[in-house]
Amino acid sequence: MVDLKSQYDKIKDTVNASIQEVLDTTTYINGPLVHEFQKNLEHYLDVKHVIPCANGTDALQIAMMGLDLKPGDEVITADFTFAATVEVIALLQLTPVLVDVDIVNMNISIEAIKKAITPKTKAIVPVHLFGRAANMEAIMAIAREHNLYVIEDNAQAIGANCKFSDGTKKKAGTIGHVASTSFFPSKNLGCYGDGGAIFTNDDALAHKIRGIVNHGMYVRYHHDVVGVNSRLDSIQAGVLNAKLPFLDEYGKARQDAARKYSAAFVGHKNIIAPTICDQCDCHVFHQYTLRIIDADRNGLMEHLLAKGIPCAIYYPIPLHSQKAYADSRYKEEDFPVTNQLVKEVISLPMHTELDDEQIQFITESVLEYLK
Ligand SMILES: *Cc1c(COP(=O)(O)O)cnc(C)c1O
Repeated sequence: MVDLKSQYDKIKDTVNASIQEVLDTTTYINGPLVHEFQKNLEHYLDVKHVIPCANGTDALQIAMMGLDLKPGDEVITADFTFAATVEVIALLQLTPVLVDVDIVNMNISIEAIKKAITPKTKAIVPVHLFGRAANMEAIMAIAREHNLYVIEDNAQAIGANCKFSDGTKKKAGTIGHVASTSFFPSKNLGCYGDGGAIFTNDDALAHKIRGIVNHGMYVRYHHDVVGVNSRLDSIQAGVLNAKLPFLDEYGKARQDAARKYSAAFVGHKNIIAPTICDQCDCHVFHQYTLRIIDADRNGLMEHLLAKGIPCAIYYPIPLHSQKAYADSRYKEEDFPVTNQLVKEVISLPMHTELDDEQIQFITESVLEYLK
């Protein structure tokens, strides 16, 4: 699904030099490269605080730990996402409230959020799924009206823009009270191991979170809050420093590939391709995901795999149907879109190194099966 080797070959010298610097200086943990990356990412995102940590799941958990949420508080999130989002809500003994998503952008449904709000609701966690920014303007308006926190799960959409009706744009992950991201190798800004970060514009929250990631310490050996140990290591920070200058270029390469895919599928009776907005970068294509309608999606997958074309179903089971997150309050009729998407979606290879020949082979193979 991704080609990290060809991407590495192009930036090898800078990456290797960064790693060598860590080895030569033995600054493995909390070294200067981590601080440098933090500053570089704050500048890129135009956000006041970036707090690096060990992975994207930790980032989400720590972001939530920083807010004054109490066991039993309800946290609304999307039914159609990677399990990490709901997992950390449950781990913190908050009550996850899964809601349906929008059929067009596959992100959390604004109407479904409104319906799910109760006096116990304390936060909303939108996920910018597959690289496309959720409707943050509407989500922030709901949050203001009901006095809720917004925690953006930005693991899949770093670099994407959110557009507002007054014409302004902000980077995904800088609009809610706090956001998390992941630097897992296959993410849009991936390191060569695990990594993650938390973003916020709130000085007090940033301070609190800087302690939480470090065993709850603000002064050495004084543990003021219950914390965790979650660090981005210096080698990963070096890799990320080398890659961050290319993030916009990487986003463009993904959008170009998406445009070429979609051009081949336009008007096909069985294919609904993702929309691509030419004006803004609201979709950075972490995944290129088709909906296959009135045709055998699983058969298509087998056909592609047999031809050596990687493809995947993200995600095959709605979270409300997972054993770990089942809740007697959920009714199937509350999740028509997720229940439909899990049967229709298929993601094709998407990365920064796709060439025209590969795209042509993939699109022809899809069309050969669907006729
Ligand atoms: C990848 C991902 C995460 C978790 O990130 P890790 O670094 O793997 O822990 C969380 N949420 C979403 C939506 C993701 O895609």
